Amino acid sequence: MIVLDLACARDHRFEGWFASADEFDSQCARSLVQCPVCASQEVRRLLSAPRLNLARAGDPAPKLPVPVPAPGGSPPSAEVAEAMHARLLQMARMIVQQTDDVGERFAEEARRIHYREAPARGIRGVASPGEVAELGDEGIEVFAFPIPDAAKNPLQ
Ligand SMILES: [Zn+2]
Repeated sequence: MIVLDLACARDHRFEGWFASADEFDSQCARSLVQCPVCASQEVRRLLSAPRLNLARAGDPAPKLPVPVPAPGGSPPSAEVAEAMHARLLQMARMIVQQTDDVGERFAEEARRIHYREAPARGIRGVASPGEVAELGDEGIEVFAFPIPDAAKNPLQ
């Protein structure tokens, strides 16, 4: 299952869930994809990379989920999706346990650690694409990993 960022002719942004990118193309060609705001069928895919859908029943709903029925399409294997989800959740939990959450100060803190103004440690937080590019220019490596909300809570 992948989540695509979509936009309609009037530039309403929303997400669509599809079995694959081809499935989106096929549904789009048959006018099966609609804007949830204005019902426009002129929907285009935004250029961001598709990402894995980490949500499942019991997790908080992602922003603006638009489940799109897939008539005739076969759903992805539940076992595969489940195994992938468990693996990602495990990695996300490890990251959460081993890093300090510095939130919006991520770029600043990454720099301080790089220039030894702060103790060396793993940190996580949010950074804009511009900040990430600047850090890269300074030789500071960062990587993006989506942390599902479920991984932020302690294990039950
Ligand atoms: Zn619209």
